Amino acid sequence: MKPAGNSVTARDLVVEYPTPRGTVHALSLDRLEVDGGESVAIMGPSGCGKSTLLGLLAGLARPTTGTVTIGATVISSLQEKARIRFRRQNMGMVYQADNLLPHLSVEENVGLQLGIARRAADADGEVEALLQRLGLAALRTRLPDQLSGGQRQRVAVARAVIHRPAVILADEPTGSLDPANAERVIDTMIDSQRAIGATLVLVTHDPSIARRADRIIELERAILTAAAPDAVAVPDAV
Ligand code: ADP
Ligand code: MG
Repeated sequence: MKPAGNSVTARDLVVEYPTPRGTVHALSLDRLEVDGGESVAIMGPSGCGKSTLLGLLAGLARPTTGTVTIGATVISSLQEKARIRFRRQNMGMVYQADNLLPHLSVEENVGLQLGIARRAADADGEVEALLQRLGLAALRTRLPDQLSGGQRQRVAVARAVIHRPAVILADEPTGSLDPANAERVIDTMIDSQRAIGATLVLVTHDPSIARRADRIIELERAILTAAAPDAVAVPDAV
């Protein structure tokens, strides 16, 4: 299932988690509109719901209320199996930790993602071509623990784009890197995004990384409420 277009739209999103201390409001967001092929950086205080939002955009979870639409597909209405299929084919994800499989080489890690998305082996040498383009070809037979943190994160970007996803979602992808490596990773990500025409939603705390996106969106802290009287309140943030 390929989406018709790759805009990202969210409307009236609310995510609530029931906990023993009452209901946690993890996210409230009226409206998010990202054009197909656009890049946006999401910024906001810790705990304001940025990772929760990316999880909804990825189809990893469904909102308590509201809708998420990718192109013409309302992914928040898809049942789990259809959502998983949609995500495998159309989404590329990068996290703060690279999450590479330690016993697989660089090319195997990237190739595995291609197999998951396409259910087919890399018949056309696409992995090799991508690693070449991203300047990672010399590393292709190394294991993750034979790479620097910055190199590992660039491999994670390669893994996120090898299947030419409609949307790339990145959750603090440079959060554990020094500035020079952060710069290289974001270069790799934005070059790849443009090359495949994907839409990019990037969560970051770093203003210099955020400025690389076409647009910056500030997310405000959701109002936290809880039933229990000793619940934590954040009056300065509501
Ligand atoms: P951010 O990524 O902006 O730091 P998160 O999206 O991780 O924020 O979390 C938003 C809020 O939701 C936080 O208050 C967090 O503690 C809460 N939260 C996230 N996941 C859960 C969960 N599974 N159960 C209860 N609360 C959660
Ligand atoms: Mg987070």
